[in-house]
Amino acid sequence: MPEIRVLPDKVANQIAAGEVIERPAAVVKELLENSLDAGATRVEVEFKNGGRSYIRIEDNGCGMTHDQAILSIERHATSKIRQADDLMQIASYGFRGEALPSIASVSRFQLRSRTDEIEVGTELMINGGKLIHVKDCGMPVGTRMEVSHLFNSVPARRKFLKADATEAAHIIQLVRVYAIANPNTGFTLLENGRLLFNSPACPSLKERVHEIFGSNISDGLIPVEMEEPDYKAHGLFSVPGRGRSTRHEMITIVNQRPVTSPTLNQALVEAYHAYLPRGRYPIAFLFLELDPGAIDVNVHPAKREIRFRESARVRGFIIRCLLEHLREETAASKPNEVKGSEPDKNLPSPKLQGRPVVSPAPVSVSPTPKVAVSAGKAPASPRPATRSKPQADESEPSWDTGWKFVGHVQRGLAVFDSKKGIVVLDRRSAHQRILYEKLEQQYLNQKVPAQQLLLPVPVELDALGSSHLLDHIDFLNSSGFRLSEFGRNFFRIEAVPVWATPEEAEGLILDLVGLMKDGKMRKDKPVEAFDQIARLACAKAVRLDDSVSEREMVSLVSQLFQCKNPLISPLGKPTYFEMGRNELDRRFMKRGLF
Ligand code: ADP
Ligand code: MG
Repeated sequence: MPEIRVLPDKVANQIAAGEVIERPAAVVKELLENSLDAGATRVEVEFKNGGRSYIRIEDNGCGMTHDQAILSIERHATSKIRQADDLMQIASYGFRGEALPSIASVSRFQLRSRTDEIEVGTELMINGGKLIHVKDCGMPVGTRMEVSHLFNSVPARRKFLKADATEAAHIIQLVRVYAIANPNTGFTLLENGRLLFNSPACPSLKERVHEIFGSNISDGLIPVEMEEPDYKAHGLFSVPGRGRSTRHEMITIVNQRPVTSPTLNQALVEAYHAYLPRGRYPIAFLFLELDPGAIDVNVHPAKREIRFRESARVRGFIIRCLLEHLREETAASKPNEVKGSEPDKNLPSPKLQGRPVVSPAPVSVSPTPKVAVSAGKAPASPRPATRSKPQADESEPSWDTGWKFVGHVQRGLAVFDSKKGIVVLDRRSAHQRILYEKLEQQYLNQKVPAQQLLLPVPVELDALGSSHLLDHIDFLNSSGFRLSEFGRNFFRIEAVPVWATPEEAEGLILDLVGLMKDGKMRKDKPVEAFDQIARLACAKAVRLDDSVSEREMVSLVSQLFQCKNPLISPLGKPTYFEMGRNELDRRFMKRGLF
């Protein structure tokens, strides 16, 4: 058996560096965190060639004395915790005392620091883990660290680095996120001598987001504050319908620490489920505050990930609070409501495969949120209860959008002149949204109209499908179908919802059994299961053609705005977009010299 040896410090540091310092952005992260832990109100970050050739971080924090500076590059030297129990209550970014020795072991590292107690600073130079010199230097109070020739001594690591531009993008995103998390500190970021941003300490998050991400991101975000026992959160979030194709603008900060947390990401995506097309992500700057004892920050080598001790509760909290605001926002963004006006009977009665839907109930609010909230009480429905009255003869409020119908264009689009600009509406998506919510309401009222088939249609299933269908038979019978079992693995379809034709009966049941097998229709979640049926129905909705009259279009829009989620079709497509006067003017701006 080979001899067991204690590794020399230099080797141990390089191994630790492998975990903590996986790329230049990780160096920036560690040094930046140290500056913030040192109470800096100004930090300047500069890097060259994606951070490989040069990184400099300078702060005006508390600084270090001569002795502290020498200690700081020792392994496990930290001023931030004293005992393992402190890990339960971490308030600082750092706590392991391994960043500086790790960085110094894989680069050429210069540290200069001075406290306000003494006029002279200390300079330390280390190359590949070897101390080159310690000497006095003149400098203001604070710390300045320079890292060059990163990973020169570790060719294996160097090989894994991506193109400079990629490494630079990681650094830029990192500094942005820390600047968002620390609005009371001024941040400057330079790349190859070029200023990327310079943001002084900012009291308001909105200004900070504007300075760092630009107006493209910062415009049109809704401020949200939420509080429940044990949890507090605030932040800025995109309005319903506005999303991005990546998660880069989903920034989550827990007790001031920027983190990636699957729990929080899921909660955000779920909260926006009905408000964004599929595959789009919300813009979110979420600040969550909770007892440090309720999270574990020590689960990831670079401390990027955290774990919540009660993740389901946290998820529920975020979803509840966001949903409430998103609903309010959706209600507020609708054009004016005209109360007590005549119910509009001019809407082309929503036709599906040429059949009228039997009960033309006005669309209204479902009493239960569609998103499963895992803990605590369900969010209160912010809309007046009167709107859920299903009677068609009641005088329902209608929406006066103020939109003037201009005409049908292209295939399936309608153009309106709105007060603010022009609106382009996708007729089919709008129609589908109306139908979808109508069906949902019918289901919630347990009044899904069915049509009796003249001749019952037999279906034969395999054993698994048959057991799924038996499991769901009551559910289907309350969703507009009527099915009965007659013999082993044989069923009889006696009625189908009015939106389906008798010829489609068998195919529909087979489709639904497929969804059951995939776990997409669960008996314990009937509202979500019905959602699948409603989607099938909407996918079959006929296209409203160009002959739809102006009155009918105005009426369609009015019905659309009585929907809970008028912005998006049930299949995830936007129903309309509005181009404001400013945007139109911008497009007609004079270009060139004349
Ligand atoms: P940790 O942050 O986990 O404590 P580090 O290796 O990052 O470990 O830093 C070691 C120690 O060096 C810190 O605990 C702190 O006392 C000191 N230090 C590092 N950077 C700075 C800085 N910018 N200003 C003041 N002190 C610093
Ligand atoms: Mg540190």
